[in-house]
Amino acid sequence: MKTDESGQGQMDRLLRRLERERRARAQAETLLEERSRQLYLANHELALLASALEQRVEERTQELVAERERAVALARQDQLTGLANRRNFNDFLSAACSRVWARSGRVSVFLVDVDDFKHINDAHGHEAGDAALTEVARRLSCLSHSGLAARLGGDEFAVVCIDLATEEQEKALAKSIVETLKQPYAFGARSLSIAVSVGHASLPDHANSSAELMRHADMALFASKKAGRATATAFSDDLRDEAEERRLLELELVLALDRGEIVPWYQPIVEGAGRTPKGVEVLARWNHPLRGVVLPSLFLPLAEERKLLGAMFISLFRQACREIGPLISAGKLSYLSVNASPSQFRAGGFAALIQLLLQETGFPPKALVVEITEDVIMTDLTRATREIDELTRLGVRIALDDFGTGYSNIASLSRLPIQWLKLDRSLIARIGDGHVEQAIVRAVLDMARALHIDVVAEGIETERQAEWLISAGCRRHQGYLYGRPTPFDALRDFLSSHAIKHASTG
Ligand code: C2E
Ligand code: CA
Ligand code: CA
Repeated sequence: MKTDESGQGQMDRLLRRLERERRARAQAETLLEERSRQLYLANHELALLASALEQRVEERTQELVAERERAVALARQDQLTGLANRRNFNDFLSAACSRVWARSGRVSVFLVDVDDFKHINDAHGHEAGDAALTEVARRLSCLSHSGLAARLGGDEFAVVCIDLATEEQEKALAKSIVETLKQPYAFGARSLSIAVSVGHASLPDHANSSAELMRHADMALFASKKAGRATATAFSDDLRDEAEERRLLELELVLALDRGEIVPWYQPIVEGAGRTPKGVEVLARWNHPLRGVVLPSLFLPLAEERKLLGAMFISLFRQACREIGPLISAGKLSYLSVNASPSQFRAGGFAALIQLLLQETGFPPKALVVEITEDVIMTDLTRATREIDELTRLGVRIALDDFGTGYSNIASLSRLPIQWLKLDRSLIARIGDGHVEQAIVRAVLDMARALHIDVVAEGIETERQAEWLISAGCRRHQGYLYGRPTPFDALRDFLSSHAIKHASTG
């Protein structure tokens, strides 16, 4: 019985365990099923994600390729005008020159420079300047045929052509560039005009390499610029010789300044019927060891290019103060007049420099006259006014030089503290011509009187001119009639001989 019972018990336990196991397995299976479903879903999601990722990678790769292509294009293109840039131009030119060497043909380069571009910017604003450059670009593209038009920077453009067979065709294209670009362009409601200078050269006629071709086209451009607005020039051997001469002179000029070969000469300015020398104008001369005395018209532009004008001015100023200072202290002269170039004035700090130099030399500010030209005032009236005001505060007088040659803006004259006006030689030379010319000079003298400005007449060569000017009320004179520019020793002799003459006649 006990055995039966325990047998039954064992059976029950076994059944219960089986049941538990079955349930556990069922639960595990459900769980497993759930897990595998989750896994399936996760897998599916992963697959979706992977495919999305793949697509994004593909898209991004395409974007990068496009961006790179854009960047490459931009690196070869001028942003403002859309023309080829300098790098692009150089590559094109080198390739074209290589082809000519390998086979045959010609490469013609035209360098194009906008005349007086600064004036467009200054007078009409930078937007007008940009519009002018864009218009130049558009017209050049139309003219460049199978070649390439490029903007090399600023207001410099270039065209390279490979389909011109003769120099005559090149000259014709250069001429049509000048003519086409002379046509006015529209800026808003206004019509503005521009002009360009062109220099051109070709390979193999004028050069053996692309670098030489560019150099020679540049020499031709320089000649055009020198000749004035809207001119085209073809390269020639003469131009190369001139350029070499200029380069040599430029190098010598750097040394000359160091060696003290640039010296002040002095031209007297006389006053009144007694023609008493009251002051002197400093005029720069170069005592060249081989060429003799070189005039400023030859070396000042070189000094400007080489940025030597500032150093030259300081050296001349110091020497002039040293030489003329004692004559002023001794009462033999009343003033020293110096020329300031527009670029010096534009650079700023000019008045501060004068103040320093006056302190250093002990030269009296009241005995100094600074001569400026109209373009100083025309290009930047605000800055010019500031510098002039500062100079006036120091006690220095301002003279407006070369009056009658430029724009002669009378309105700005009345607004500026200018004490002197120097009538240009060309006006004086014409007073013998007739009534109209005399009337012009009289009108200037009247205007100056009304503005309380003193007038110095320059370039007086004859007694008749002197007498007419005195009769018209102009008593301050400068010119060969009274004395040419001379070195200091000759000036001293001149002053003594005048004093002796004056003493013996007076
Ligand atoms: P500018 O300031 O108008 O100087 C007067 C020029 O006329 C001088 O020429 C002088 O020699 C010349 N001249 C004077 N009287 C007569 C005359 O009766 N007849 C003729 N035919 N000429 C006369 P220069 O010395 O050759 O100077 C030329 C220009 O160079 C000057 O014209 C001035 O603008 C510039 N210059 C000269 N020295 C300096 C300088 O140290 N600094 C700067 N920035 N410019 C200078
Ligand atoms: Ca002068
Ligand atoms: Ca002058």
